[in-house]
Amino acid sequence: MTEAIMRTERLNKAFSLGETIYAVSDVSLSIPGGRITAIVGPSGCGKSTLLSLLGGLDRPMSGDVFLENQSYRSLSEDGLALLRRRKLGYVFQFFNLIPHLTALENVMLPMSFIGVKRSDAKARATELLERVGLGKRLSHVPLQLSGGEQQRVAIARALANSPALILADEPTGNLDSKSRNDVLNLFEKFNQENGQTFVLITHDDSVAAIAHKTIRMSDGQAVEDQ
Ligand code: ADP
Ligand code: MG
Repeated sequence: MTEAIMRTERLNKAFSLGETIYAVSDVSLSIPGGRITAIVGPSGCGKSTLLSLLGGLDRPMSGDVFLENQSYRSLSEDGLALLRRRKLGYVFQFFNLIPHLTALENVMLPMSFIGVKRSDAKARATELLERVGLGKRLSHVPLQLSGGEQQRVAIARALANSPALILADEPTGNLDSKSRNDVLNLFEKFNQENGQTFVLITHDDSVAAIAHKTIRMSDGQAVEDQ
């Protein structure tokens, strides 16, 4: 049994627009370190809401998240922001690259946030882009890249600060099947070669096929597959 890198205790998050909807309802789960975990379920079941709680992008109404035994609830906003920058990487469905920055600059950005020397950041960003197969695209801006290439830049960016955990929300949801396979192969490669931990949110069972562990969501509740 692999040790958990992250766990949650009875997380709750509701939205009220007239009626109150529990997007995340009493969710207790654990994420094994060095493994790929998939969180699957139909649209609207609460996957993105759960991911923003796991990523510290949003606060729960009750419950807590622990990353390497650090409680989010005990952290100030600044403390949580620091934890996000140093320990977490994010990959989104629509890539979210900065449009006026080159691929290289996009990957350097998270390193500049934590004060990595520019020459070191440039060397690491170049190496990461080479590893995702984009060594020849360093000075392209996002508009000059295909969707699959943009997502590979986003993966390199997510890995920039060697995070403990990478959280990806529908990372292949906007890609053709070839690019989807490229992206899944990269997750597997970084997991196998570097022991990188991933949490992949998806409504696609074929993405879940690369996972070591699957958590199924339905109406805000999560059940861990045994
Ligand atoms: P999924 O990612 O699985 O498609 P979400 O987490 O985006 O699901 O949404 C779960 C539920 O919470 C949905 O019913 C959605 O309409 C609702 N919801 C999500 N975000 C908000 C919000 N900011 N305000 C109101 N309702 C929201
Ligand atoms: Mg979603």
